[in-house]
Amino acid sequence: MEGAKKGLVMIYTGPGKGKTTAALGTAFRAIGQGLKVLMVQFIKGSWHYGELDTAQMLGPEHIEIRPMGRGFVKIGAEKPDPEDVRLVEEAWEFGRRSMMTGDYGLVIFDEINYAISYKMLAAEKVVEALKCKPEMTHVILTGRNAHPSLVEMADLVTEMREVKHPYQRGILAQRGVDY
Ligand code: ATP
Ligand code: MG
Repeated sequence: MEGAKKGLVMIYTGPGKGKTTAALGTAFRAIGQGLKVLMVQFIKGSWHYGELDTAQMLGPEHIEIRPMGRGFVKIGAEKPDPEDVRLVEEAWEFGRRSMMTGDYGLVIFDEINYAISYKMLAAEKVVEALKCKPEMTHVILTGRNAHPSLVEMADLVTEMREVKHPYQRGILAQRGVDY
């Protein structure tokens, strides 16, 4: 049995809804325990997300959310747009460096799996960095299609499975639930 206290590597992946919100739920819990939280967003959504305002209300001494990617990334393109790659690299460097300081109790790399599966970021780089992260720092990686090498090294992996989604019945994203 290893020591009782340990910084975990956690992955929320799969096609069902709930990956980013599970990360935010963990953040909510962590903040209450006095942990400082950083969320780096690799893909910026098209809405104004409620959590950005909640983070402001709580204040940067508790949580910072940094949207660092672009709104839209071309899917199915042969090669990713160099500008998207640059933004992903910048987000990764910022998140990695912040994680290494040990100032944060929880660091969330939101949609990083997406950036990796579209070859905008090498999985090996992420594995290497996670191997030498500060011991007590918890890390969450979100996004569909988590890379096998990350799944292998993670302490916790949850795959969201879609059973039902309102979208299937033509119900669009709802304020306060989806953004
Ligand atoms: P959320 O941010 O709501 O937890 P997520 O992080 O699991 O969702 P993403 O792949 O990041 O899912 O997708 C972001 C957006 O797509 C959200 O607005 C979400 O509601 C929506 N979405 C997620 N899963 C599905 C699905 N299975 N079908 C349709 N829309 C979805
Ligand atoms: Mg998400």
